[in-house]
Amino acid sequence: MMDKLFVFDVDQVLLNMYQPLVAAYEKYIGRETSHQETLDNIRRFEEDPRPYMDFAMQFQHSPAFGSLGPMPGAVQLVADLAAAGFELAIVTAASSDPEIFEKRRQNLLNVFGDVFMHHHHTSLSSKEGSLKTLCAGYRQSFFIDDKPSHVNEAIGAAGTAIWLENPFFDFSRDTLSPRAVVAASLDDVRKICGI
Ligand SMILES: [Mg+2]
Repeated sequence: MMDKLFVFDVDQVLLNMYQPLVAAYEKYIGRETSHQETLDNIRRFEEDPRPYMDFAMQFQHSPAFGSLGPMPGAVQLVADLAAAGFELAIVTAASSDPEIFEKRRQNLLNVFGDVFMHHHHTSLSSKEGSLKTLCAGYRQSFFIDDKPSHVNEAIGAAGTAIWLENPFFDFSRDTLSPRAVVAASLDDVRKICGI
């Protein structure tokens, strides 16, 4: 049996997507948006992504999507987990289109180095299957995501499912499984996995 695995969501956990995403959306609709509109769009996307898919695909094919910067604390956390003997993987809801897969892989490589053993793109389907496949055979496994619905998909699939608090998902925090562990920031993760 293998030892320890840590699986990351990408957007708003490892890479900071919101500013480039909002900027691209404003360009797409041809006007500026308020903070409230962004919150409403995220909630509506969660309920039904279909009206946003044309924009989402356009954004994922844009240069901005391939050059996202790290979230605060992410580079150090990834380095510390690797140094503590964790194997690292990503499961992202980004499209599995080969061009998008390669852009994301290159973006992660540029920011974090060649540290992720597995890259799974779920194209908005449930993350449960990918997590079950990845985590099977590890003595200890962890998954972190900023979206409560994805954290819930990891319950029973990963050993520990961590919700990285994100104020954009306050509207759905009540739906979070009581079995999830809550991290207020990436710094909390070290404590949660005992490093
Ligand atoms: Mg995310």
